[in-house]
Amino acid sequence: MRSALFARKDKLIIFADTIPACVENFLDNDVKFVPGVGEARAQLLDRELGIRTVGDLIRHYPFRYIDRTRIYRIAEVTEAAGLSYVQLRARITGVSYAGEGRKRRFTAYAQDASGSAELVWFHGVKWIEKRVETGREYIVFGRPSFYRGELRMAHPELETVERALSRRAESGMQGIYPSTEKLGNVLGAKGLYQIVCNAWALVRGRIADPLPAALRARYGLVPLAEAFADIHFPRSQEALRRAQHRLKFDELLGLQLNIQARRTERLAKSDGFLFSRVGPAFTAFYDEKLPFPLTGAQKRVVREIRQDTVTGFQMNRLLQGDVGSGKTLVALLSMLLAVDNGFQACMMAPTEILARQHYATLCRMLDGIGVRVGILTGASKARERREALEGIASGEIHILVGTHALIEERVQFADLGFVVIDEQHRFGVEQRARLWTKNARPPHILVMTATPIPRTLAMTLYGDLDVSVIDELPPGRRPIRTVRYTDSARLRLFGFMRQQIELGRQVYVVYPLIKESEAMDYKDLTDGYEAISRDFPLPRYVTAICHGKMKPADKEESMRQFKEGEAHILVATSVIEVGVDVPNATVMVIESAERFGLSQLHQLRGRVGRGGEQSYCILMSGEKLSHEARARLDAMCETSDGFRLAELDLKLRGAGDIHGTLQSGVALDLKIANPTADVEVLTRTREAAIELLDADPALARPEHRGLAELRRRYAGGEARDFSKIS
Ligand code: ADP
Ligand code: MG
Repeated sequence: MRSALFARKDKLIIFADTIPACVENFLDNDVKFVPGVGEARAQLLDRELGIRTVGDLIRHYPFRYIDRTRIYRIAEVTEAAGLSYVQLRARITGVSYAGEGRKRRFTAYAQDASGSAELVWFHGVKWIEKRVETGREYIVFGRPSFYRGELRMAHPELETVERALSRRAESGMQGIYPSTEKLGNVLGAKGLYQIVCNAWALVRGRIADPLPAALRARYGLVPLAEAFADIHFPRSQEALRRAQHRLKFDELLGLQLNIQARRTERLAKSDGFLFSRVGPAFTAFYDEKLPFPLTGAQKRVVREIRQDTVTGFQMNRLLQGDVGSGKTLVALLSMLLAVDNGFQACMMAPTEILARQHYATLCRMLDGIGVRVGILTGASKARERREALEGIASGEIHILVGTHALIEERVQFADLGFVVIDEQHRFGVEQRARLWTKNARPPHILVMTATPIPRTLAMTLYGDLDVSVIDELPPGRRPIRTVRYTDSARLRLFGFMRQQIELGRQVYVVYPLIKESEAMDYKDLTDGYEAISRDFPLPRYVTAICHGKMKPADKEESMRQFKEGEAHILVATSVIEVGVDVPNATVMVIESAERFGLSQLHQLRGRVGRGGEQSYCILMSGEKLSHEARARLDAMCETSDGFRLAELDLKLRGAGDIHGTLQSGVALDLKIANPTADVEVLTRTREAAIELLDADPALARPEHRGLAELRRRYAGGEARDFSKIS
């Protein structure tokens, strides 16, 4: 049977039994070799879901299971019931055609004792028309939709009652796989399931287990092959639960093996720079220039950083502080410590706007103290660039502020001792690693983020970082009032904006930006801009505009106008999402708020409420919202606690999308584990990783080969050669 299967495609020779049953190589085979896939579908799978290998497919787990023993009566399937997949037992009473040629549509009318439904095919008509027999009873499976209140299913799966009854899965549970609209159109309702079945037929019996038997026994884990089988084709609820546990364990163990190894490596060396004294720059600033007393939390974090920099170890600290909590000042004080001890410091920001703003803030605050600040960004003109490069190489510039441009090869520091990375979630791991290596001896690193990562997740991701938290806002801040409006309230919105502007305040209006359709976003934004210009006919109101497509100089000019109060309204895309600080702005209007993620909404809201005045965040949205979008907007109205929002965000999105939460940040490939929800597994894998590495730091023992492989898989772009650790 197997050889027959393989003979069809010559390349599949690799599946022959002569190949050693090394699971990784085997699962690494191109997914196109799976029966039912082929070249074109393989490309589609890659594009839509990032599935390239057989292993990727096997690790594409169902996100839900439906009970295939449950058969609905048509009358039960209503819009209100909100079912995502249903199974009917219905008789076909007739068929009809509509349209011509490629646009031809085939409809079959189905009926049970309770009501009737339409089954529709827009393609594959030739195939289906031969298989649908009027008068016959079928089991119909698919996604319900409603047309004028009538049940209608597009491209359902049909099976004669006799066949369906004979084929019933053991537990009756069938996996529903994450998919996309495009894939669904090509593969049909159960296409992915079918392909996974085919792939499993190829790989079952060839799954080597990366975990040593002793470890499995100790943590009560089922073998990997069994876990794969039960996650796709559960034999029972209990078997499914055990499978999920095992697969989560592997993912989190892979992560922990990396994290713990890095930590050991860092602490094994004691070549961190010593900032042993508090000198004139720090003192002069603190005594004469500090614009306001530090909050207790700011003081505590500065103290923590001071302590870190006198230990002789390299500091790696993550500073989490909600938007507006005053992280910049902490960064500044830390950089002055470095300067006082004869080192240079640099501060990297994710956007041009933010870098320029930091530069302006630092220049202003450090004026007259004898500390020189430079700037370098991708948009730096020749002269600025030359000054920065020369000044930093000669040591004349003490603090360099910039964007990604800071990590270019050409930037050579005389003596870099301290690196601040602002809004770190926006940088890729690789970029961070490159700053690390600018020196022979690594500088101290402070990464700052306002996208609050729940502690459990921080521990998972950055176990090799120490974490500081600013959990206190500067005094006198009033909570921002957040409300949700639909389009019908637009007049009220304009009235409110006018009222605030009359009070001397400023307003942001933000439009979403989605990569795929920049042209459309741009249209949204310019339309909005025009609408606002029209609806605010009083010439006294000045509107500035700012979006990613503008020239840096124009962007800068808009920001300047707004910052200095010349413009009353700033219409922008989410380029202003992070860091921008204009304390006089009190209103943040977010258009199409449903298109933003929760952490982005929270970031945007953080642009207001920075002064002493009451501030407002107004979320504009359509009338019809998905359940998830509604939950996001409701959460925004209910709380302004960034940590609670972040936890909620993870819950709403589920584990698969942590990726998205951290944006381009960390290449984490978690398919099933959710560090927030799976705290217990997390703790256990941490313990297991520490113990394993204690015994075998390089994971070089033969029985640890699978573990070494696991570690490589979850190295998240920061893959290293661990063989050197001993
Ligand atoms: P974030 O943590 O979001 O980066 P910023 O550093 O931009 O916050 O600070 C937000 C605002 O709060 C700024 O206008 C800053 O000047 C002000 N600020 C910072 N620390 C204090 C403090 N201790 N007391 C009062 N205002 C402060
Ligand atoms: Mg900031």
